[in-house]
Amino acid sequence: MSTPSPITDSIKQQLLAQFCEEHDNAISILDADLHYLSVNRAFEVMVGYNSEFLLNRPLGVYATEFLSLRDGTVLNDMIGDLRSTGLYANNVSIANRYGQTLNCYVTYRQMTIDDQVYFIGMFRDISALVKDKEKLTHLLNFDPLTGLPKRKVFLSQANHLLLDNSSEIFIVRFNINRYRTLASSIGLTQGNNLIIEFVERVNDIKLKHLKFFAHFGSDDFVLLFDGCHKSQVSHQLDRLMQVCQQPFIVDCCSKDQLINAYHRDEIVDFNGLVDNSSFKKINIYLQLSIGISHYPKNDNQLIGLLTKAEKALQYVRESKVDDICWYHADLDRFISDSLQLEAELRVAIQKCQFVPYYQPKVNLSTGEIIGFEALVRWQHPTRGLLKPCHFIDAIIKYKLSFELFCQMAVQITKHLQAWENLGFHKNICINADAMEFSHTDFYNFLSDLFSKKLINPTQLNIEITESSLMLGHANVKKQLEQLKTLGVGLALDDFGTGYSSLSYLQEYPFDIIKIDKSFILKMVNSRTQQAIVKAILDLAIALDMVVIAEGIETEQQRDLLLNMGCLYGQGYCFSPPIPYLSATRMLTEQINFR
Ligand code: C2E
Ligand code: MG
Ligand code: MG
Repeated sequence: MSTPSPITDSIKQQLLAQFCEEHDNAISILDADLHYLSVNRAFEVMVGYNSEFLLNRPLGVYATEFLSLRDGTVLNDMIGDLRSTGLYANNVSIANRYGQTLNCYVTYRQMTIDDQVYFIGMFRDISALVKDKEKLTHLLNFDPLTGLPKRKVFLSQANHLLLDNSSEIFIVRFNINRYRTLASSIGLTQGNNLIIEFVERVNDIKLKHLKFFAHFGSDDFVLLFDGCHKSQVSHQLDRLMQVCQQPFIVDCCSKDQLINAYHRDEIVDFNGLVDNSSFKKINIYLQLSIGISHYPKNDNQLIGLLTKAEKALQYVRESKVDDICWYHADLDRFISDSLQLEAELRVAIQKCQFVPYYQPKVNLSTGEIIGFEALVRWQHPTRGLLKPCHFIDAIIKYKLSFELFCQMAVQITKHLQAWENLGFHKNICINADAMEFSHTDFYNFLSDLFSKKLINPTQLNIEITESSLMLGHANVKKQLEQLKTLGVGLALDDFGTGYSSLSYLQEYPFDIIKIDKSFILKMVNSRTQQAIVKAILDLAIALDMVVIAEGIETEQQRDLLLNMGCLYGQGYCFSPPIPYLSATRMLTEQINFR
C-alpha cells in the first residue's frame, strides 16, 4: 500500500479558501480598521450586497439605512469589543439591505499574520431557533384557544399598571354559567368553539376603558378597567352581557347529544333548531356570572383585588340572586359561613346527625296509610332541627349525597324492620339526588342491603326530582335500569316542574309519578291546573303508572283529586312529616284519615 503524499501549503490554502467560499454560514474578513476585505457568497446573500460594494467599506455598512436604535447599539458594541479585546460573540438580530431582520449567532475573532491584523467573522442563521423560542414564549404566556394573555402575563402587566396608577381600577372576574356541564354534553370541540366565538364577540364590541382582557383557563375570564368610574364600568358590563343575548349556534353530532344538552339546561333552544330533520344545529344562550373589585377601595394589591373579585363571583354563583356582585366586606362572612357549613356537614355525616322524618302516604278513598315518604332532617347541635332547604344544596355541592343516602337508608331499614315486627308491612319512599347514582358504590350498597334480607326491595321506592335529572349526570339511565333489576320502585318527584317532564317518563323506567304540590295548590281555583292534573292522571293510567299527589292541604283538594281518579296522596291535610316514634304511634293507633 502506497503512503499518501503530504498536502502542500498551497493546496491546503486553496481547499480552505474554497471551503469558506462555499460554506452555508456567512463569513467575512475585515482589516485592522474594520473594513471588509473579503466576504463569501452566503454573506452576500445574507446582507443583500455583493462583494464589489462591500470591499473597503466599514463593518455594518449594509444596514446603515435601516439601523434602529437597538441595531445601532449592537454594532457599536461589536466595534467596541473588537477594538478592545479582539473578540465578539453574541446572538444578534440585524437588518439587511431590504430591511429584513436577521437573527444570527455572530462570532468575530482577531488574527495576526505577518504583523497584519485581521478579523474573521462568521454568522450562523438562528431564525428557526428564535421562531421556536417565540412560539414557546407565546404558548406559555397566551391561551392557545383564544390568544388572550394568561394569568402570568396579566399579573405582571396589571401589577405595573397598579404601581404607576393614581386613578381608579376595576377588576372583573367572570364565568359562563354551567359551562362545564354544557361542554360535557356538546363535546370538547364544540365547547372550545363556543369559547372562541364568545371571545371574538367580546373583542368585537370594544369595551371602553378596558386595559386587559385575560383568560385564566376554561371559562374563567378577567377584565381590567382603568381610568373610569363605577357607572361607566356598569355600562360596559351591560354591553358584555348583551353579547350573550344572541344565540350561539352549535353543531350537535348525534341526537343523543342534543337530547343530553336539552335536558340539562334552559339555555338550549329546542325550537331554534336550524335543521329539524337531522338534529344538527342547536341555539345556545349563554349567561354570565360576574364579580368585581375596586382599587383603591377594596385593596391596593393586585392579588387582593383578584381574590376579592373572585369572592364576589363566588357569591353570584352560590346565591343565584343576581348576575353581578360588587365586592363588599360582608362577602367575607358569606364565604366563611359557606366554609363553616361544609365543615359542619362533614361532622354531621360522621356523627349521624341526619334523621328521617316520615310523612304518611294515604289512600285517598279509604284514608288508610299505605306507606311513608322519608324526608331528611338535620339535628344541628346548636341551630335545632333543620329542614332540607337549609343544607341539601350544600350536600350536593360538597358531594356528600351518597353518604347522606346511606345514613338515611340504614335508619329507614331499622324502622321498617321494627314496623314489620309489629305486624305493619309498609313501604317507604326515599329521596335521592341523581348524583348519588353516579357513586360507584350506590348499587352495591343497595344490593347488599337486600341480599342480607334486612328489607324487601319492594318496600323501598326511590324518588328522583326532575331538577336533578336535568343536570344530566352520565349513565343515570343505565344506573336506574340496574336498580330496577333489584326490584326497587322508582318515582319521578315534583312532576311537571321541569322542562321535559314527558321525555323523562319516556326515557327512564319510572313506576310512580308524584304530581308537584304547586299544581295541587292552584287546582281548586284554576280550571287550567285541573286540566293539567287530569291529563297527568290519564297519562299515568295509559302508561300503567301509579300517581301520588303531593301537598294536599285541604279536604276540598282531596275530594277533587279523588273525583278525577287520583288514588293516593300526601300533605298537611293528613299529616306533616313526623319523627319515627310518632309515625309508629300512628300505625299502632290505626289512625285513619277519612
Ligand atoms: P319533596 O321530596 O318533594 O318533599 C315534599 C316536600 O313538601 C317536603 O318538604 C314536605 O315537608 C313538604 N310538604 C309535604 N306536605 C306538604 C303540604 O301539604 N304543603 C306544603 N306546602 N308542603 C308540604 P321538605 O321536607 O322540606 O323537603 C324538601 C325537599 O328536600 C324534598 O322535596 C326533597 O326533594 C328534598 N329532600 C328531602 N329529604 C331528602 C333526602 O333525604 N335526600 C335528598 N337528596 N333530598 C331530600
Ligand atoms: Mg320527594
Ligand atoms: Mg316533591
